[in-house]
Amino acid sequence: MLLIACPHCGPRSELEFRWGGEADKPRPLLDCTDAEWATYLFGQRNPKGVVSERWVHAYGCRQWFIVVRDTVSHQINDTYPLGSSPAGPVERSA
Ligand SMILES: [Zn+2]
Repeated sequence: MLLIACPHCGPRSELEFRWGGEADKPRPLLDCTDAEWATYLFGQRNPKGVVSERWVHAYGCRQWFIVVRDTVSHQINDTYPLGSSPAGPVERSA
């Protein structure tokens, strides 16, 4: 079980959180095609390595934040609120 450090509440069990998708996924323009919009909504890259993801503390403060996590080891490298920057450099997988 993961222990996720909510930037607002501190460390909590992963059972209190819900995953919200990739954090650095570029949103298509308003005049995009239906296929581009569908890919944005439902397409996931699922990379191997360090990724940035949106998570919500669904059974706590209900705030969204960013988790920098390694998808191989499940190690969480950083968490920070939406709209702020990570504490250190983030090396992401391609
Ligand atoms: Zn929280």
